[in-house]
Amino acid sequence: MQSSEIRNKFLNFFKEKNHQIVPPHSLIPDEQDDSVLFTSAGMQQFKSCFLGQECPYQSRVATTQECFRTSDIEEVGDEGHLTLFEMLGNFSFGDYFKKEAIGFAIEFLEYLGLDKDRLRITYFKGEEDIPKDQEAYKICRQHGFSDSQIEGLGRRDNFWGPTGVSGPCGPTVEIHYDRTQEECPQCKEEGVNCSCGRFVEIWNIVFNQYYQDKDGNLSSLDQVGIDTGLGLERLAMVLQDVPTIFETDLLKPLITRVEEEADQSYEENSEPFRIIADHLRGITFLVAAGVRPDKEGRGYILRRLIRYLQKELNKLSLSDFSYQDVVDLIVNKLGEVYPGLEEARSKVVSIIKKEEKRIKKTTQRGLKELKKVSSKTISGEEAFELYSTYGLSPDKIKEKGYNFKQEAFEKAREEHKKISRQGAEKKFGGHGLKEGEKADFKTTALHTATHLLQAALRSVLGDEVRQKGSHINQERLRFDFSFPRGLKEEEISAVEKWINNKINQDLEIKKDEMSLEEARQKGFLTVPGADYPDIVTVYYIKNKAGQIVSKEVCAGPHVERTGLLGEFKIIKEKSSSRGVRRIKAILQ
Ligand SMILES: [Zn+2]
Ligand SMILES: [Zn+2]
Repeated sequence: MQSSEIRNKFLNFFKEKNHQIVPPHSLIPDEQDDSVLFTSAGMQQFKSCFLGQECPYQSRVATTQECFRTSDIEEVGDEGHLTLFEMLGNFSFGDYFKKEAIGFAIEFLEYLGLDKDRLRITYFKGEEDIPKDQEAYKICRQHGFSDSQIEGLGRRDNFWGPTGVSGPCGPTVEIHYDRTQEECPQCKEEGVNCSCGRFVEIWNIVFNQYYQDKDGNLSSLDQVGIDTGLGLERLAMVLQDVPTIFETDLLKPLITRVEEEADQSYEENSEPFRIIADHLRGITFLVAAGVRPDKEGRGYILRRLIRYLQKELNKLSLSDFSYQDVVDLIVNKLGEVYPGLEEARSKVVSIIKKEEKRIKKTTQRGLKELKKVSSKTISGEEAFELYSTYGLSPDKIKEKGYNFKQEAFEKAREEHKKISRQGAEKKFGGHGLKEGEKADFKTTALHTATHLLQAALRSVLGDEVRQKGSHINQERLRFDFSFPRGLKEEEISAVEKWINNKINQDLEIKKDEMSLEEARQKGFLTVPGADYPDIVTVYYIKNKAGQIVSKEVCAGPHVERTGLLGEFKIIKEKSSSRGVRRIKAILQ
């Protein structure tokens, strides 16, 4: 079944259930909603309706919404991530609730022809002071699902929100599909979250029934609501029975077009093809929303997409790729559904080309500068200068045969951030900066929390746990580590407890410098596979008894005391790849 047919069937199905079909909102959120750069979920345009405030719509609506997630840009290339995706959703503002919402979902999936026996449902089993969602469980049983198809999970998996510190939130029901019906040794214990990839989540149904205040207290909402999200790419993958979302009719034609010109095939090396297909869709939609390349904000995201696109095209020796064919494929496919695309058709390529020219020109100027340097060893400051002025990436500089210390480069980058902040402070008399400072502090605090997390995991799970990767933005940390199985609920709680205990002790984060060899001998952790200079900075934390509880080789920066962190909470624990687990956590 083609994606357009799925989309139409969804909207018609809910129209027949008396839903108002609301057109997709622009990727740029309304002015009063400054919490995110882009529309990243279907419910976003209905925020005031959920809060019982002014609502220009009927009490039940359905949409297809294009969404853009900046947090996933670096992750595109694997089997599951996209920056631009479509979300189908049905919503109720004080109208129907759990019984209808679950009923509609099951009826629709059966109507599409999915085998009910292959559905798995998770619901909120209760945690802390929040009771089990007995009602959702009962409804699922009434629909004929056996207990082996229903799984109760905790707050991390089956409770949504609030976004930010306060707001509506509530338990969820998630519908998963059994793709392979093949049981691996871990499937029994890990259920739908099993890392063997047997199950795919297709529909998330949120029951907005609580309001959480700033202090974390829950009260019942006067007006309950339903917010659902059904990922179109995933549903198409299931219905078309293809291995990943990239083989669906939404993305495969783009990949095939790129393949026709590339000197490698998608089979041989999938990653660049996936990134190119995703980023070209992202770029086209951003241009359609009126975004243009810029130094900051949305324009900066577009600039990054174009830069990454170029990088991947170079990998396939496609430096002179004709974009228009792919843009046409995108617009032909989706132009009728998403307004603005048709108009963007003729603009996208020239915007990309112009940006490419700009990048090329500055790079050439940078390379000229680089040639003037007589020594093949340059300082980290010089390398950073070339990067910040001409966009020469550290890799590019190394590729040209120049050496520098990565750590010194990072230091210069931090220094630069600090100076530009101070400069801006002078310029604006201190206005408008507080946000940037807050963001920097949050990122730094999450970095310190990452060190505590690694130490806690090793304490709870054993010393075989090693960092495999990490990524931090101002909202959350992500930490990948080697471990053969999913964490048990008790283990996750133990990790959180270990960390919050260290936070409550308000311990000092100490810093030292030593040779890499000495640091290794003394047991300071390094990231396997990473490059380190001969002299390294180490950070360590001692507990009240004077024992070292965390020690890592790291370029920083960190906060001064653990007491500044706030409460540590793990929001997700899942498989990242074979033998590697991924944790997402926040400080609140
Ligand atoms: Zn399994
Ligand atoms: Zn670190």
